[in-house]
Amino acid sequence: MKTEVLAIKDIKKQSDDIARAGKILRGGGLVAFPTETVYGLGADGLDAEACAKIYEAKGRPSDNPLILHVADRAMVDEITREIPDIAEKLLAAFCPGPITLILERKDIVPDRITGGLSTVGVRMPENEVARAMIRAAGVPIAAPSANISGRPSPTTAASVLRDMDGRIPLILDGGPCRFGVESTIVDCTGPVATILRPGAITREMLTEVLGGVKLDPALVGAKVVPKAPGMKYKHYAPNAPMTLLEGGPEKMVPAFRRQVRQLQAEGHRVGVLASHEVCTALQDSVPAPLLADYGAQGDLLTIASRIYELLIAFNDTEADVLLGEGMSDAGLGLAIMNRLHKASGFHSIAI
Ligand code: AMP
Ligand code: MG
Repeated sequence: MKTEVLAIKDIKKQSDDIARAGKILRGGGLVAFPTETVYGLGADGLDAEACAKIYEAKGRPSDNPLILHVADRAMVDEITREIPDIAEKLLAAFCPGPITLILERKDIVPDRITGGLSTVGVRMPENEVARAMIRAAGVPIAAPSANISGRPSPTTAASVLRDMDGRIPLILDGGPCRFGVESTIVDCTGPVATILRPGAITREMLTEVLGGVKLDPALVGAKVVPKAPGMKYKHYAPNAPMTLLEGGPEKMVPAFRRQVRQLQAEGHRVGVLASHEVCTALQDSVPAPLLADYGAQGDLLTIASRIYELLIAFNDTEADVLLGEGMSDAGLGLAIMNRLHKASGFHSIAI
């Protein structure tokens, strides 16, 4: 199958292109599309056979459920049984936006996409291209991230093409994603809202709107099965093994110097994913292609938007081990650290 990449610069002028994507989706085909978080791999979410193609293209485990993407509130009601008070508040405060609500589903949602769960994940993306495409399809669109399972999520159309070339007919290119980490997943089916996956809508933002919010125990290191089935899988991993250095930002430069020197003495080619401060200090000891600058320390929006592309880029270098710089888990830091911990298989050194 030949994969076409279609740049969407203006949804009004390109209504024919959007209509074409809608037609492929209604016909049971796959279309990759931009959102404000990462690129999605979409199929008609009410068509079990179309959704089976997503699992096949990604090599995704069949018990890992898909999130349904909707264009408006009417589509939320079409697929969910009831909207509890918690969910009403979150819809009003954050939708459209980078948040997924877990709600009780109607029977119209195929078992195949929820891994047999009685619930469904619902997301209303803010990205204009995404919503125009969903409207054109006229059905909720099931979409996981548009990468081969286990690899980092794509935040550019070029990275989607790298994983999906020859597997899908069409990629809509809407430019780089704004946030760069997947949506916050909030379970709204219990008495207290629970974060199953941290994202750009932070714990602090949720607490402000709801008064209280819990973190799924699996997110804070407890040895329990996470409630979001996908969170138990290896994820976001570059080819070379990565170790995270964790501690105060002021300790990072000396700690990186030490670790780099030691690994290089052992004969390793060390890749570094770190702040501008650390990368600048390592310029003399690490070759430029192996230094991935994720932005200034504390500039969480920039860091979130860059980490996946930087992790992907290491696969084209000679690096055989990677060192990553950790940060505080306040605000968006919780989502970034969740992805870095998974990318490193939870290998960390406290400095
Ligand atoms: P992605 O593959 O990036 O789209 O991630 C989707 C995430 O949402 C995975 O971790 C899924 O396990 C999770 N998810 C989807 N539907 C549900 C659901 N009904 N209940 C809990 N988690 C869900
Ligand atoms: Mg994913």
